[in-house]
Amino acid sequence: MSTVAGPHVETNPWEAQAARFELAARKLNLDPSLWKILSMPAREITVHIPVQMDDGRIELFTGYRVQHSMARGPAKGGIRYAPEVNLDEVRALAAWMTWKCAVVDIPFGGAKGGIICDPKTMSQHELERMTRRFTAELIEVLGPEKDVPAPDMNTNEQTMAWMMDTYSMHMRQTVTAVVTGKPVSIGGSRGRREATGRGVMLVTLQAVKKLGLMPWNTRVVVQGFGNVGSYAALLLHEQGFLVTGIAEWNCGLHNAHGIDVKKLFEYKTANGTIEGFPEAEPADHHELLVSDCDVLVPAAMENQITTQNAGKLKAKILVEGANGPTTAAADDILQDKGVFIIPDILANAGGVTTSYFEWVQDRQGYFWKEAFVNSELEHMMTSAFAEVIRYAESHNVNNRIAAYMLAIDRVAETIKTRGIYA
Ligand code: GLU
Repeated sequence: MSTVAGPHVETNPWEAQAARFELAARKLNLDPSLWKILSMPAREITVHIPVQMDDGRIELFTGYRVQHSMARGPAKGGIRYAPEVNLDEVRALAAWMTWKCAVVDIPFGGAKGGIICDPKTMSQHELERMTRRFTAELIEVLGPEKDVPAPDMNTNEQTMAWMMDTYSMHMRQTVTAVVTGKPVSIGGSRGRREATGRGVMLVTLQAVKKLGLMPWNTRVVVQGFGNVGSYAALLLHEQGFLVTGIAEWNCGLHNAHGIDVKKLFEYKTANGTIEGFPEAEPADHHELLVSDCDVLVPAAMENQITTQNAGKLKAKILVEGANGPTTAAADDILQDKGVFIIPDILANAGGVTTSYFEWVQDRQGYFWKEAFVNSELEHMMTSAFAEVIRYAESHNVNNRIAAYMLAIDRVAETIKTRGIYA
């Protein structure tokens, strides 16, 4: 595992985060003390948790929770389960949460967690025991006013239900606001499941409008058909975009006339995969990223657009549904090509924005109608988009650096006003 001071590697997410932070901080002429504070996470926790597997064996899993900043409010961010989880990745994702929450101006800091495991090989019971033990290990640092987890890669509403229940058992009372992304039946928010994809759709609409395109002749390729990619594709399809390609980790689909995403949704539910969908041709999942299209939505994982393929990208608009899908080194190539980027910390902020609505509803004990959730989200996403574009134009920087500048400025202002406790 590399460390913060490790050698430069294009695909190290922490390096990718730090490179953009430095560029933006320099442009902002950020005070050196604030620079120092914001360039490192506030708190990093590593746990090694024993879990009994179904065959009786005890397995030891390593997990992390990194709280990058709590300056603007409770730390906020997802928990991911994957074999590739490592501390640098979790650090980067935690920092991105700080910037993301500041871009959409919600009162949260940033955090992220993860456990090194292969959830595909684990049973539901094993996942439940691992989740509960992880929650118990973190009990002192979690809480509605401290740190509020949510789903991320390979975790879902059920994972959050187990976390909420474990935390509540320790507190001897039901505490719904300790996590977001819960099932609606136990204090989740209507619209949260679709929210990240909906946010992607909302900012894509704004970008298309800005570039003078029309949805009906705008071809979109989406990478990933998990929570973010599937709802982004579905909602873009419903808005009249031509979703011409979908790339999954092991397969791809193409249809020049547009894929009926609603039917694809039904197909995936029935078959567990998009492979073999009869109303599209099979396509190479790597080639789809650089295929002819107008909008590319990487909504899978980090490091998908690198110096290896950035030069070949044909899309005019890149909407980053995933966190960190573009490496810092690829940024320059995309800028030279004139690609209009909606950076991750804006493009995928619909999820955490609706998590904020969920936290508010849980604390009030009053639950909103879905139409209200969606209209509040639309308002927040379109305002944040407009602010980032205004910042980019007035400071003569690209959209990504503009989003970082806007975020860093907001967090720095909070720290300055609060002062340093000594
Ligand atoms: N994991 C999601 C993200 O990366 C959601 C975080 C949240 O809702 O707290 O934005």
